[in-house]
Amino acid sequence: MNARDASFDVVVAGRGAVGAATALGLAQVGLRVGWVGPAAPVPATEPQGWDSRVFALSPGTRELLRSLRVWDAMPAARIAPVYDMRVYGGPQADAPELHLDAYSGRIEALAWIVEHRMLVRTLDAAIGFAGVASIDDAVTAMRVDDGPLGAATLELASGRTLAAKLVVAADGADSTLRTLAGIAPQVRAYGQRGVVANFDTTLPHGDTAFQWFGEDLGVLALLPLPAASPERGRASMVWSAPDALAETLLSLSPEALAERVAEATHHTLGALTTITPAQSFALRLIRVPRLIAPRMVLVGDAAHAMHPLAGQGMNVGFGDVAVLLDVLRGREPYRELGDPLLWRRYERARREAVSLMQDATDGIKRAFGPLPAPLVGLRDLGWRAVARSDWMRRRMIAQAAR
Ligand SMILES: Cc1cc2nc3c(=O)[nH]c(=O)nc-3n(C[C@H](O)[C@H](O)[C@H](O)COP(=O)(O)OP(=O)(O)OC[C@H]3O[C@@H](n4cnc5c(N)ncnc54)[C@H](O)[C@@H]3O)c2cc1C
Repeated sequence: MNARDASFDVVVAGRGAVGAATALGLAQVGLRVGWVGPAAPVPATEPQGWDSRVFALSPGTRELLRSLRVWDAMPAARIAPVYDMRVYGGPQADAPELHLDAYSGRIEALAWIVEHRMLVRTLDAAIGFAGVASIDDAVTAMRVDDGPLGAATLELASGRTLAAKLVVAADGADSTLRTLAGIAPQVRAYGQRGVVANFDTTLPHGDTAFQWFGEDLGVLALLPLPAASPERGRASMVWSAPDALAETLLSLSPEALAERVAEATHHTLGALTTITPAQSFALRLIRVPRLIAPRMVLVGDAAHAMHPLAGQGMNVGFGDVAVLLDVLRGREPYRELGDPLLWRRYERARREAVSLMQDATDGIKRAFGPLPAPLVGLRDLGWRAVARSDWMRRRMIAQAAR
């Protein structure tokens, strides 16, 4: 299709995973969808190696991806279930442990670890069959006619224009569309970088995710990956490290990095061998005053960014998609797609869920940041109380399962 000056029911801007799921879902409810953004550099076939960018996807996300007929199209051998989670309230070997498990939460798994590029490639393939017009370009400007017969017109870097009744901004944490709509975000840098890398391990992980907290350490997680054999393991690291430590980690040789991570994790998974080079991402808290604007809805990181310590940013983004699709399915026949009443339903349904997750992750991050001595004692007491409380643990599992 020649997308020059094309017109659609909905244009989704942003070709990350959240934008892809949105475009696919909208096409599946029968709308004419344009999907614009710079094409992700995703290889057409699965490379041998492992993507160091992985996500812990929740049961709620799996449900959405199943309903989009995407989940079962991903190769099961590349997905690792997480049945247990062991979280340590300190960096030391004998730090108090909080144990969460799927069995006592009566759920199949706490999460599934999925590679980013596999997820995006599977979504891309499904979109190819769904009749979505994929446009390799970037949005640079926008005009909105908000009348009942109006439309939003997007200008693209190439000079093309796209018109639509509704625009979904899925263009990430530094969203251009959010700025074009006049929505000013509150941004707070965490002073940490998320350093990610994958390792082969001499001990099996037992389908368990491990996480350590510490003031100097930051938050260090080892997530299970499918292993080559039952006797050995493979793990993906997400180390939310203070900026200076992150720089050091990124400067280490693969051998020195493996040694450093093995030490910091008390050799829980034995000796490590680095199998993918380390990459890093700046960590920020981004809150927006509004999730909607005339003829625009924000989803994914364009609507909210949070600390990755709970592995929830993408899950919350997929939660946005699920609600957006529900709102459309419940649309009265006389309401046009850009009707603000429709999108206020979306905003009402998402605001609390998004704030709760942002407040929770931010609160935990602060609790393990620099604290006056009496508060450190209080925090440790609180941690032990939570770790011992079945009720609290069940609540945490229920929250993670969304
Ligand atoms: C270290 C780390 C670990 C994480 N782990 C987890 C986890 O385990 N579980 C989880 O749920 N979440 C996790 N997250 C959060 C997750 O990475 C993000 O929430 C998710 O990637 C956001 O996806 P998105 O599609 O909204 O945005 P993005 O992936 O940022 O995609 C935005 C897209 O918009 C495009 N774009 C930009 N500008 C324009 C424009 N002008 N016009 C058109 N397109 C444009 C970009 O090219 C990009 O393709 C983690 C984050 C970090 C940093």
